[in-house]
Amino acid sequence: MRHLSLDPPDSLNVQPICDLNHQLRQRFGFTEFRHGQREAIEAVLAGRDVLAVMPTGRGKSLCFQLPATLMQGVTLVISPLIALMKDQVDGLRARGIAASAFHSGLSEHERDRVIQDLRLGRIRLLYLAPERVQHERFIRLLRSLWVSRLVVDEAHCISHWGHDFRPDYLRLNDLRRELGSPPCLALTATATKKVQDDICEKLRLNEPLRVVTGFRRPNLRFSVRPCGSNAEKLAALEALLSDAVSGSMLIYCATRKHVEQVAAHLSRDSVLSRLTPDASRRAVGFYHAGLADDVRAKVHEQFLSGQISILVATNAFGMGIDKPDVRLVVHYDVPGSVEAYYQEAGRAGRDGAPARCVLLFQHRDVSTQEYFIQQSPGGHATALRDLLRQMVAYASVEICRQLALLDYFGDVEETALGPCGQCDRCVADPDSRETDHDLLAAARSVLQAVARFHGRFGATKIVEVLHGSLSKSVLGLGLHTTPSFGQLKFLTRPAIGRVIRCLTASGHLRIEGLEFPLLELTDKGARVLEGSVPLLWGPDSEEPSAQRNQPRSAAQLTSRPDPDLFERLRRLRTELAHEEGVAPFLIFHDKTLRHIAGLRPSSVVALQEIPGIGPAKLERYGRKVLEVVNGSE
Ligand code: ADP
Ligand code: ZN
Repeated sequence: MRHLSLDPPDSLNVQPICDLNHQLRQRFGFTEFRHGQREAIEAVLAGRDVLAVMPTGRGKSLCFQLPATLMQGVTLVISPLIALMKDQVDGLRARGIAASAFHSGLSEHERDRVIQDLRLGRIRLLYLAPERVQHERFIRLLRSLWVSRLVVDEAHCISHWGHDFRPDYLRLNDLRRELGSPPCLALTATATKKVQDDICEKLRLNEPLRVVTGFRRPNLRFSVRPCGSNAEKLAALEALLSDAVSGSMLIYCATRKHVEQVAAHLSRDSVLSRLTPDASRRAVGFYHAGLADDVRAKVHEQFLSGQISILVATNAFGMGIDKPDVRLVVHYDVPGSVEAYYQEAGRAGRDGAPARCVLLFQHRDVSTQEYFIQQSPGGHATALRDLLRQMVAYASVEICRQLALLDYFGDVEETALGPCGQCDRCVADPDSRETDHDLLAAARSVLQAVARFHGRFGATKIVEVLHGSLSKSVLGLGLHTTPSFGQLKFLTRPAIGRVIRCLTASGHLRIEGLEFPLLELTDKGARVLEGSVPLLWGPDSEEPSAQRNQPRSAAQLTSRPDPDLFERLRRLRTELAHEEGVAPFLIFHDKTLRHIAGLRPSSVVALQEIPGIGPAKLERYGRKVLEVVNGSE
């Protein structure tokens, strides 16, 4: 061990954790943690590897910035964008936190300064571009320091399966080893389950805590508008612009040519005169990578200041855009992946006020993206094609658009909250929905299977059985001998999965349990099996339409944690932590408390069913927990 004398004693992290809220207020001026932040921070302080997947703007940086102020040693942050690095460093310095960035944009003098500060132990957080990792001398310098945590921002760049693979990232694992394998925090705003797995594997994360949260955007109204021609797309666009009353609008196109064509079309007097008076006063601008740097900077600035209120752009526009009042994001062409789509569409409504995200979908446009894939270097066309396929699937998904997006990113907790109640799928007239015969038959088979197994299995197992997979677990449980086995073998597994999601969205099935989600039949589903009501697609189509358009309230979902109870349990935990002089998370994780607050166990037997409560904890804290739960009715 190189830095034996500097190694933290085991108890180092305990004290500061007790007053994380205090630190949050004092250092950052925030009153409370956002969902997921505390969990990630506690794990970082405890020295665990962590993968945090949270959308842009949710506050991923806090997950390492706050711990960096509490831990000894240097927190090394790998970040690919120099501009964003600068912003973060400036922000930290303004808060009195010693941070620096080392990148190619610095003068020799500035670099020497950083190196000197590092040697003198004056830097808590050091930001580095991934290419830096190739520089032998710099690595030697890092090795002479005590790097107590490696943070990998934009971690999806390490995966071929992601939408933004960067070869430089593949070296990060070597870097980590050279630095004596410090604990690692990987951060990303966009990663499917597969990409998440890939990040964990490529960075060799050791039993990482995965925090995937915050993907729901309750103020956004998603919709897809099928179009048969360019003329139809332009007409749809005009209608959307006329509808929008205030704020800025962003229109994304796949190519520079489309950007210029669309901008030229919208600027025509004949078009402007057709728009509503309010819309016709708007200034139209455009942006793509083919424009000169100074022109781009100017357009950027004019959009931020509101001088340009309708901006037509390629995906070159957006990195680091944080304009709060974008009211409408239209995709004029289909993007290459759901990740790209959600990131771009997600620039709408940052201020929390209602905003719309519309995809104008013409099947022919898919070939433009196919062309990009063929041109892409480095032979991961298969992965890119897969991403594109999923994007096309989004356009034709039968369920709530928001749910489809949450499902894509694996945000289980938010998925459990149910459909959004405002997207085009949620508000469509149930009678206009597909009642495809095969699909209905498949839905019945799914309902039968779930009923047959009495809610003992999750979606994956149900899919395996219906598809007729001879997997170990299917054979082990003898499921291949049940009538459900292979009943839907004519459908692909994803297709069966989709049927299950439709049934969940429409309230015929429900998902129980957050950690090990199991499928259960609802009363509505049971009535379909009895044959007393026809199977209708569409969320809760039996409810009056006013109610149908509302997202489901927390109280309607049995497994949703009761926030008051959660807070009371948290207070109990703080008291216990004080009494015992240990960190709160050593008593119960937030996750455990959320489980308790959702399930409200009223007896010791029920309590021990909760994951995270072993016999020792049951004996020590069980009675007090039950007092809090039972006292809160
Ligand atoms: P991300 O990296 O996830 O895109 P950032 O870390 O840049 O997001 O944070 C986005 C914004 O949210 C920043 O302005 C940050 O200061 C703010 N923020 C982060 N955490 C909190 C919090 N707990 N309470 C209030 N604001 C927060
Ligand atoms: Zn919806």
